Amino acid sequence: MTIGFGVIGAGMIGTEHARRVNNVLTGGEVVAVNDVNAEGAKRLADSLGGNVKVFDSGHDLINADNVDAVMVTSWGPTHEEFVLSAIKAGKYVFCEKPLATTAAGCQRIVDAEVAAGKRLVMVGFMRRFDSGYRLLKQAIQDGEVGEPLMLHCAHRNPEVGETYVTPMAIQDTLVHELDVLRWLLDDDYKTVQVVFPRTTRHSHSKLRDPQVVLMETVKGIRIDVEIFVNCKYGYDIQCSVVGEDGIANLPEPQSLLVRKDAKLYTTVLTDWKKRFVDSYDVELQDFIDGIGSGDLPGPTAWDGFCAAVASDACVKAQETGNIEPVTMPARPAFYD
Ligand code: NAP
Repeated sequence: MTIGFGVIGAGMIGTEHARRVNNVLTGGEVVAVNDVNAEGAKRLADSLGGNVKVFDSGHDLINADNVDAVMVTSWGPTHEEFVLSAIKAGKYVFCEKPLATTAAGCQRIVDAEVAAGKRLVMVGFMRRFDSGYRLLKQAIQDGEVGEPLMLHCAHRNPEVGETYVTPMAIQDTLVHELDVLRWLLDDDYKTVQVVFPRTTRHSHSKLRDPQVVLMETVKGIRIDVEIFVNCKYGYDIQCSVVGEDGIANLPEPQSLLVRKDAKLYTTVLTDWKKRFVDSYDVELQDFIDGIGSGDLPGPTAWDGFCAAVASDACVKAQETGNIEPVTMPARPAFYD
């Protein structure tokens, strides 16, 4: 059976995911598109060829008979409304991060899914599908470096625009670490703190860059994440797990090692899309396969909620300069 996809949000990632479903993956086909910008929706529908219907309303798209699964790739503040509408219609929904822009919004989605009594929601935290992070998780599970004690991480981008302001370092950037690190460690956050080194001259007046986020987990593991979004040299994701018996590092993306002109060098990626292109393929293929088997993979709506709670605590910590608690309710048995 081919899963009919309805895509809400025909922007950058919506276009990439739609093409991925049609041209790279198996078992799915985009049948409907909606965007607040009708021209953008039509452009995407035309580029996909075939019989892709353009809907004026995201809710009408969700309720269309041939839409089996909804892909929410619109602007973040619209996600909650569309995910709730998909749950109400009993449709599977892949929602790009954030699941909702507030923890309360994520909680409403969790409540709706639990009430529906069936896993329908998957959140687009694609790092869980990255082969490097998966190697790291396997190493931790196998006890390769003993019990993890500390994590040293970095999330660096070459540059950001003027619209990127201080809280976005948490909400748009760190949020990927917030999800992948609790998955990696099978743990939850207990406290968070944000400290600001000297700001780079490449930043602007509304962005403190770099930032260092210090976190403690329930198991007592200490994590530091450097967020440096005007680092200039490249897009660079680092994760080093210090365990009782050794250290395991996230593998570097494959790249040529060149000996030339009395130098030995390699390259660093600059485009985040290239860094995680394979993981986008794996996550969406798993979503399609999960629909087919009736066993949807994570990240779940609960994971989206946990990321939002931790993100809110980090933004508060940015403002107060204090160590802030991360207060998480007990996980509903539905998500065990
Ligand atoms: P984008 O290029 O701005 O695309 C968003 C699209 O949604 C735009 O075409 C926008 O139209 C449309 N839209 C806004 N409100 C809408 C509504 N009410 N109904 C239907 N369409 C609406 O943004 P993007 O970079 O693709 O990001 C989209 C989402 O994906 C964001 O939540 C972002 O955080 C997430 N994302 C995740 C990753 C990842 O690595 N997992 C990477 C990139 C993006 P207008 O332009 O006319 O407003």
